[in-house]
Amino acid sequence: HARSVDALVIGAGAAGLFCAAQAGQRGLSVLLVDHAPKVAEKIRISGGGRCNFTNREATPANFLSENPHFCRSALARYTPADFIALVQQHGIAFHEKHKGQLFCDDSAEQIIRMLLAECERGGVERWQPCSVQDLERLEDGTWRAQTARGAVQARSVVVATGGLPVPKIGASDFGLKLAERFGHRIVAPRQALVPLTFSAAEWAPFVAMAGQAMPVVISTRPGATGKSKKAPPPVAFHEDLLFTHRGLSGPAVLQISSFWQPGQPITINLLPQVDVAETLRAAKQRSKRQWGNELASLLTQRMADTWLQMLGLDASLPMPQVPDAQISRVADSLHTWQLTPAGTEGWNKAEVMAGGVDTRDLSSQTLESRLQPGLYFIGEVVDVTGWLGGYNFQWAWASGMACAEALAAS
Ligand code: FAD
Repeated sequence: HARSVDALVIGAGAAGLFCAAQAGQRGLSVLLVDHAPKVAEKIRISGGGRCNFTNREATPANFLSENPHFCRSALARYTPADFIALVQQHGIAFHEKHKGQLFCDDSAEQIIRMLLAECERGGVERWQPCSVQDLERLEDGTWRAQTARGAVQARSVVVATGGLPVPKIGASDFGLKLAERFGHRIVAPRQALVPLTFSAAEWAPFVAMAGQAMPVVISTRPGATGKSKKAPPPVAFHEDLLFTHRGLSGPAVLQISSFWQPGQPITINLLPQVDVAETLRAAKQRSKRQWGNELASLLTQRMADTWLQMLGLDASLPMPQVPDAQISRVADSLHTWQLTPAGTEGWNKAEVMAGGVDTRDLSSQTLESRLQPGLYFIGEVVDVTGWLGGYNFQWAWASGMACAEALAAS
């Protein structure tokens, strides 16, 4: 005999747990299934273990999608303030780290426990680990799923299986495959919020800089989205850059990676607060120090030496003898360092997936499929991708809430 419920939610991550809890609390019978042995592993590892659970200032402008307006409705109806109120109700202490980013003081586990408590309040039943082998639509419009724990019949099915990053903790293409099988278009998935890598030859001069971090302005020209064939204007972020053995990371690079198109260059201003040419020309007038040591007053010694060597300049030259042309060259190279990444660190290191279920086939009000009534897609599996900084969780909560409200109203 099939188990019968109002809503079957597939995926007990951020969006699935939140949606299931909200639907349950609205009186629906909800079954939540997840194939991974542990609940919400991505929340557990998020924000360095402290979960950057929202961003106080989240607006639709902080999201990428072929349709930048799609996220508006859900984000407007369930705001960061709403989620903050829930976190406070549960007595979870938090702090703002940077640019509206809110983190737990103690641990991401607290957010997981909160979501599980909310599920319990809603009487949500959870089967985990439990895989879903098949899903079909019955003639009466309801859904029947075959799972590892038996058949389930449901009035509605919510797909909350997330994106492709970090396959070793349960990520799968289940949601994308299912969407395709039921006729949905897919925006090709791409790694986003991911460190960028360079060819060994191109990176050789910079290997010595691994571990160095500094605030920069980073920019690139994103690809055309949606119907627009026109190249959009460049995007830029003012964030910290981190040199690694294979390339670049840190918030600056994670942010720009979501916009970066393979083959395209990125541009980095390594000293956005300083007029390098002016500073060095002034130094030339009064300083007897060596070129490398003078430049080290703006950078680190290691970086100054690496930089001059990369440009083929003599770091031991006394400042008064440094030609103005060399000063201009160094200044330009530091203010507009242009380089073309060879690739990314891959799905194991990406924080999110850009692309996903095409929003043209979904309702922005309810997240219900326009092709298959009773089938919903929420969270990261949808082609809505947040910047770094708590935006992706806010989308999980907001899309989960919009869906739960629709389930209760249907
Ligand atoms: P998930 O939370 O990934 O949940 C999907 C669930 O579906 C998983 O439990 C998975 O096991 C299950 N599943 C998958 N396939 C199947 C299947 N075939 N059958 C059954 N179940 C299935 N975002 C932020 O906003 N702030 C942060 O601090 C932050 N830090 C991050 C750090 C890291 C290292 C990573 C990788 C991501 C981080 N993110 C962060 C992104 C954020 O975790 C995700 O965007 C968010 O979890 C997406 O929610 P979701 O519910 O759509 O998917």
